[in-house]
Amino acid sequence: MLVGVTILAGVSSLLAQSDHVGSALDRLVAAYPDALAGHDANTLRWRDGTVMPVADGVADKTFAELLRHASIIDQFRIPYPRGPLTKPPPVDSDPGRFRNTAFFRKMYGDCQKREVAPHLVSLTWLPKTWGKAIRITSVNGVDRQLRAVSAEIDALPQTIKRAAYPIAGTYNCRTVADTGEPSPHGYGIAIDLNTAFSDYWYWRRHDGAVVYRNRMPQAIVAIFENHGFIWGGKWYHYDTMHFEYRPELLQP
Ligand SMILES: [Zn+2]
Repeated sequence: MLVGVTILAGVSSLLAQSDHVGSALDRLVAAYPDALAGHDANTLRWRDGTVMPVADGVADKTFAELLRHASIIDQFRIPYPRGPLTKPPPVDSDPGRFRNTAFFRKMYGDCQKREVAPHLVSLTWLPKTWGKAIRITSVNGVDRQLRAVSAEIDALPQTIKRAAYPIAGTYNCRTVADTGEPSPHGYGIAIDLNTAFSDYWYWRRHDGAVVYRNRMPQAIVAIFENHGFIWGGKWYHYDTMHFEYRPELLQP
């Protein structure tokens, strides 16, 4: 835990420099051109005129606080490592798990108020292999990206693509098991693949150090990343079946 806190403090001091904040917000605006109009040093502007603060003025948050009370800029505290993992993620390195609830509810709706479901559309997952309908949001063109992911995985050899079906779920209005915060599944932007080929830190003994495990093929991970989805297998608190649409973390 101490190691994790030290790492986060280091990242936080980097982000305190305004150029780092500016470039993170540039990536955010570039990733969601349909929704976001621009930013300045302190605020994010939406196309409908909504203005949101990018920070909350709370310095030195712990890892637990970042998971539960992330600001918009906190979402960028841990860079997402694109490409093959060369070693297990460092302690408490969970890039993408710090989510600002106001930002995501504004973008995709609040599922508890039934605002997400009207944007869900159906697509056929792995039409040549599995061929069942799944539901995903059409906001930001997430459905188009997931349809492209499906076609590319469908073209992989059977020994690889068997990890991608049957899926364990997409849209689900629920909270995250360990934090109680809204799950990205409730925004309609996430998919869980085949649990028979998946590992989730929370399913294992979790009263000490987390021991990394992964059986998800890199070819599948690469396809998702190419279409704007991050992978839960790059988290210290790993969830290797989980992919979610977070193009801001994959921008160059
Ligand atoms: Zn998931």
